Amino acid sequence: MSEASPLPKVSLTDDCNYIAAFLTFACNYKCHYCINSFESNISCRHIILRADQWITALHRLANLEHPDGLVPVTLQGGEPSCHPDFYEIINSLDERIRIDILTNLSFDPEEMIARVQPERLRRDAPYASIRVSFHPDQVTLDELLEKTLRLQDAGFYIGIWAVLHPDQIDLVLAAQQRAKQAGIDFRTKEFLGFHNGRLHGRYLYDDACSMENSQTVSCRTTELIIGPDGDVYRCHHDLYENYPPIGNLLDSNFRMDGRYRSCNCFGHCNPCDVKIKTNRHQQFGHTSVSIKFPESTHPDSTSRIFQAVR
Ligand code: SF4
Ligand code: SF4
Repeated sequence: MSEASPLPKVSLTDDCNYIAAFLTFACNYKCHYCINSFESNISCRHIILRADQWITALHRLANLEHPDGLVPVTLQGGEPSCHPDFYEIINSLDERIRIDILTNLSFDPEEMIARVQPERLRRDAPYASIRVSFHPDQVTLDELLEKTLRLQDAGFYIGIWAVLHPDQIDLVLAAQQRAKQAGIDFRTKEFLGFHNGRLHGRYLYDDACSMENSQTVSCRTTELIIGPDGDVYRCHHDLYENYPPIGNLLDSNFRMDGRYRSCNCFGHCNPCDVKIKTNRHQQFGHTSVSIKFPESTHPDSTSRIFQAVR
């Protein structure tokens, strides 16, 4: 397939750190802690783009190669392999677009091996391009390790990530030990969200995820968040809560302008947007969004942010 998109190029902002292509919200697992349903219960409400539409949309993206490194497109969901054109999308994207995949690895590794060249999913990064999430309630560790090893042995750069849910910490750490013994990269992630009435996670802004009061703020993101129908959102909150998009990647007028946008739902932010995390270079201390509070015109405004760091 030709690299060119019939639509005008979309330049990324200089600080764009992440491009998320949510191919579908469908998922064959039912994790009770699923962050896709942090505050609401999203279903498969979205129309999904076909492979050719995803290719047209993603081929618009220009300057993916930043001075501090390449920004890949991360195919995710839901479970991205539930998209009927999953392999066609991977194989049809131009080589200059590097692909990462977030998956629960419910797909058949043999199909991946038969249909995708491992090099297509390789890039220079300190973490695996296929990032498998471990969900102990949904899959046995034996099956997950076996599938991961199969893909690793076939040349794919793959690793497992597991959330340290308060109810599963021992189980996850034991799984990590077994994976390491098998030669598999297994990393843990902080649990984000409420458990037994307490909010877990480190967030840059106090009260961002309290789910109590709402406040009007100005907010900008360093991420390009593309929903299953090509709609682009201010943040994960807006994506998951079905808020109006800021545009659609198939709209010829769409631009990634990186400006601050007014938002009246600070307090109901999704943890993904406001947590303190690692950037794509695995450097800790990054937060996806930057928020200005109404008093930010006041000289004390910066102390508001400083005090909110936990
Ligand atoms: S595998 Fe991921 S997307 Fe699917 S239900 Fe579990 S947490 Fe949600
Ligand atoms: S303030 Fe929170 S909900 Fe509003 S745009 Fe920013 S991250 Fe999203």
